[in-house]
Amino acid sequence: MKLVSFRLDSSEYVGELSVEQDRISFDSRAPGSLIALRDLCGLSDLSCGKLEEVLGKADSKIDVADVSLLAPVFEMEKVICVGTNYADHAKEMGSEVPELPIIFNKFPSAITAPDSKIRLPDISTKVDFEAELVVVIGVGGKHIARENAMDHVLGYCCGNDVSARDWQKGKPGGQWLLGKTFDTFAPLGPMIVTKDEISDPYDLGIRLRLNGELMQDSNTSQLIFKIDYLISHVSQFVMLKPGDLIFTGTPPGVGAGRKPPLFLKPGDQLEVEIDGLGVLGNAVVADS
Ligand code: MG
Repeated sequence: MKLVSFRLDSSEYVGELSVEQDRISFDSRAPGSLIALRDLCGLSDLSCGKLEEVLGKADSKIDVADVSLLAPVFEMEKVICVGTNYADHAKEMGSEVPELPIIFNKFPSAITAPDSKIRLPDISTKVDFEAELVVVIGVGGKHIARENAMDHVLGYCCGNDVSARDWQKGKPGGQWLLGKTFDTFAPLGPMIVTKDEISDPYDLGIRLRLNGELMQDSNTSQLIFKIDYLISHVSQFVMLKPGDLIFTGTPPGVGAGRKPPLFLKPGDQLEVEIDGLGVLGNAVVADS
């Protein structure tokens, strides 16, 4: 399934996208976000099977062009991110390949929709882009064993871990949270592709274009810490909940690693593309 969230006549809905037809099937009697749908339908989790059952009762269809897409999931409890998870990105940033995943977070308020604007804060001059494969948790849990970890995945989508480098690294203590969590700094979408449709999550081309120019071009085969390991590791610390996200890290080519460094400016257009997961496009504007 390809899951989208959208707004229509001031209500939010979850639907199943048919890419061939550019049409969304949805249940007009059940408005709400993916998280709200779970509560509305009394689901204990967001597994593919249960969502198929719910969306199988859809009574309406609409063209994608006639709705505003939202981030495919929002209102989640946690947005977990992994730093330095591509070996060649570690090299460009002058970092060692870590022995353990470097885990940080964004607030869910940073989540922003496909085609919405990334706002450059007045207090940063070094805002950068990071194309990332994002894992959407479908089934929660704590102390998840690595061998069962993939059972907890609903699916995957494109994400952009927008990062203010001058706050992430240039301030006392290294203010990773603040540098990563300005409003609009987590574009997500355009859809969640459920895991049954992705035969190998470690063989997906991942690219980022800035104003049409290819800046990042890699493959998820380069991930240092794999998805099952990340889920198991993080769940030793916190209870994962349905809808939680894991941004799995970015490949080389980010602005800060270039010579000379390159940062975002108003008017820029960003596109994150991952094989099978579509294209996530966002324009950049000044916040003030
Ligand atoms: Mg990142």
